[in-house]
Amino acid sequence: MPHDLPKAYDPTAIEDHWAEYWVRENLFAQSAPDSASATPSGESFTILLPPPNVTGRLHMGHMLNQAEMDILTRWRRMSGRRALWLPGTDHAGIATQMMVERQLTAEGSSRQQLGREAFVERVWAWKRHYGGAILDQMKRLGASVDWQREYFTMDENLSVAVREAFVRLHEQGLIYRGAYIVNWCPRCQTAISDLEVVHEEQKGHLWEIRYPVLDAEGKDTGEFLTVATTRPETMLGDVAVAIHPEDERYLHLHGKKLRLPLVGREIPVILDEWVSRDFGTGAVKVTPAHDPNDFAMGQRYNLPSINVMDDQGKINVKGSAYLGLDRYVARKRIVADLEAQGLLAGIKDHTNNVGHCDRCKTVVEPRLSTQWFVKIQPLADKAIAAVKPDENGKKAINFTPEQYEKTYINWMENIHDWCISRQLWWGHRIPAWHCADCHKITVARQDPTACAHCGSAKITQETDVLDTWFSSGLLPVSVFGWPNITAENRADFDAFYPTSLLVTGFDILFFWVARMIMLGCWFAGDVPMPDGSKRELKDSVPFREVYIHALVRDANREKMSKTKGNVVDPIEIVKQYGTDAVRFTLASMASPGTDIAFNVARTEGYRAFANKIWNAARFLFMNVDKAAEFGITVDPAALGGMPAVDENAPLEARWIVAELHATAAKVNQSLENYRYDDAANTIYQFFWGSFCDWYLEIVKLRLDFPMDGPESEPASEQASKSAGRKAALTTLVSVFEAYLRLLSPFMPFLTEEIWHALYDGNPPAKSIALTQYPRGIATPDEALAEMTLVQDVIGEVRALRKEIGAEEKAVTPIEIRINEQLRPLVQRNTAIVERLARVAEIRYVADLTAGLAKHSAANFDVAVIYERTIDVPAERARLTKDIEKFEKGMAAAARQLGNDGFLAKAPAKVVEGLKKQEAETRLLLEKAQAALAALPTN
Ligand SMILES: [Zn+2]
Ligand SMILES: [Zn+2]
Repeated sequence: MPHDLPKAYDPTAIEDHWAEYWVRENLFAQSAPDSASATPSGESFTILLPPPNVTGRLHMGHMLNQAEMDILTRWRRMSGRRALWLPGTDHAGIATQMMVERQLTAEGSSRQQLGREAFVERVWAWKRHYGGAILDQMKRLGASVDWQREYFTMDENLSVAVREAFVRLHEQGLIYRGAYIVNWCPRCQTAISDLEVVHEEQKGHLWEIRYPVLDAEGKDTGEFLTVATTRPETMLGDVAVAIHPEDERYLHLHGKKLRLPLVGREIPVILDEWVSRDFGTGAVKVTPAHDPNDFAMGQRYNLPSINVMDDQGKINVKGSAYLGLDRYVARKRIVADLEAQGLLAGIKDHTNNVGHCDRCKTVVEPRLSTQWFVKIQPLADKAIAAVKPDENGKKAINFTPEQYEKTYINWMENIHDWCISRQLWWGHRIPAWHCADCHKITVARQDPTACAHCGSAKITQETDVLDTWFSSGLLPVSVFGWPNITAENRADFDAFYPTSLLVTGFDILFFWVARMIMLGCWFAGDVPMPDGSKRELKDSVPFREVYIHALVRDANREKMSKTKGNVVDPIEIVKQYGTDAVRFTLASMASPGTDIAFNVARTEGYRAFANKIWNAARFLFMNVDKAAEFGITVDPAALGGMPAVDENAPLEARWIVAELHATAAKVNQSLENYRYDDAANTIYQFFWGSFCDWYLEIVKLRLDFPMDGPESEPASEQASKSAGRKAALTTLVSVFEAYLRLLSPFMPFLTEEIWHALYDGNPPAKSIALTQYPRGIATPDEALAEMTLVQDVIGEVRALRKEIGAEEKAVTPIEIRINEQLRPLVQRNTAIVERLARVAEIRYVADLTAGLAKHSAANFDVAVIYERTIDVPAERARLTKDIEKFEKGMAAAARQLGNDGFLAKAPAKVVEGLKKQEAETRLLLEKAQAALAALPTN
């Protein structure tokens, strides 16, 4: 039945082939149940791939994340769920724009030179050419996603969703425009969110500056109030100096005014509880346009805000001596000028926590600007309720590990309004138009030609685009057709929303997970249920489960980083060991909340594991071929489900089937709990231990096909052995076939290859991934208990033999003392003990013979009878008989190989096999002859 597998396991050849096949055959496409094409019935399992940046390349974190998703999706699909894993890429506003801007710089051009329209066209061209390379990598790694549904966040339909969401929130009064302190990147020339700012400790200075105190007439009193600042250049925008109301040093300054050095402006001394008396001098300058705390203070005291920098971080105070200077050049000049005027009281070393742009590493400038915001509160309330238990103690969204729920809720309860505008050209342009006549704003679903307020045609579209996370936050609803969910057009939404699970990293918990929850609950909540009823929160959420995966670290548990040079490139490792071995390595260490120390040695080990499965398959196929010569075949109906054997079957058959059931039950249970490690290790142990070390060794006893084919075995013997051989072969093949299915989500390529070979071009499905996942049922454990006893006996005998230095090939009698109840178990399995422990005879005794090496186990005592003596005449007789046999074999082979007629007709494979057999026999003959010559002559 099966076709031959190549002798050596070569993952590269197998994997390229199947990866291409899975994509070409669209094997993992999934449609909603009531659409035209047939789909499996049952519950959906929907999982959204966290869309990698279109500029991205696969790294180890992706590899882990995707292996985990693929294992779960393949497992759920094989378990009968309508499984959909949906792939796509993110337009990644800043990253992609930067990439193309760098190209332009290299060409001596810039986006400004190109102009907005041409620049955006250029980015699209870049995207068409280079974008999505990471998805090609995913294809090669065999991710079982539905490629027909691949999306890009700037696709037409997804852009419609973005626009609808913006307009709807605006209509609901939840979008506003306001002056706000934002994190400004002078390089990227855009506001960036708090989350995109990386804080780093930096050695800097604390400059102490004297502000002259004025009298009632506005004249210098000769006294100074000294303020401390880390950013002296911002003093150009100072509007006050704040002190703590109870600071005894400054009580006499309450109500006084100061003269701002270098500028000359009069500014008040204000009292604020917020001021820390211990920091610096206890007096702080107030610059509302350039510091978030000062901005808040400015609001409290109704102070003006003076913006002193432009988009590029250059001073833009009209008439100032510093106009046009870069912020750091201005800083130096200002400090020098203050010193020259005797107003610099001191410079102290100071370690500062400085915010940098996550993209370009430029120091972020807190800066006042006009931005678009989402009023977050009503959205956040729903998003909190979705994660907290309801009155029945049920949560609409569950996190694994659970601790992230707390992190999430804590963040959500302290959330600020979300600044959604970015000063970029690449992205979803905000659908708002400014009127040059009435200065009001028109927000519209369709591009307007006139102002909605005054009818003027002098309107221009907002230049800002939306934060990338605004569109990716909508993905769970938008990929299933929102906002166009109509009676005729809702099959996808009904079948796949809410999605079942989100697998993602901690780093985007707030960026993405939280925003999907807010936007999902808000917008899906308006979509009625299929029966027309109102959608409750539990069905509005974008996903029911969130699994936060761990980090992949290096073998020494260090974080991988380019600077440390310890980054493991998944593609390189895959080339070396195969995708299956890498996936298995990650799975074998993946469990909730535990980082993975990626060690190539383990991957090497799992490559060997794959190789072992390959060789077992070859052994199995060889026996199937052999059996066919004896007229024995496996009924195909025995395959594809869970093997069963009757209670009279030999021990090893009952045992391996019971083991398989127990293994399958444990694997399913482990996967339910995201214990990939337990699942993988259980799968590994079963094969390496139970199947190969024990079962295969024992089953050879039952098959026992003579080397020389059916002619060499008497017909009567063949007849009596036939039923046992068929049963043994059936169990062997059906257990192995079920095991392939059990392993398939973990090693999809290897199992696909062997499974197809097993069915030799006539498989019951297009892929093993579309067959049924093994489910274990509780089986009677008598076989397990009986086998344990037999294994114990064999184990003790093997240990004893080692201790007394018995020769490897020596077959020895043993003595065993065992109670009456257990004795029949050993007796029934005499053949197994004899074969696996090299036992000549089992003697049941009441007491072990004194002087023998013995071991005591819980249920028995055992001794090995062995003397290092050779029975010379017996040995001579045995060797002589062997030599005769080998010589006969050689002669037969020589006759066949010398027969031209035979050679002309026989398949090359047969001739090759014969030659090999001849060579082996020759070797055995030579060894036997040498042994005979070495025997002492009496
Ligand atoms: Zn930047
Ligand atoms: Zn107008």
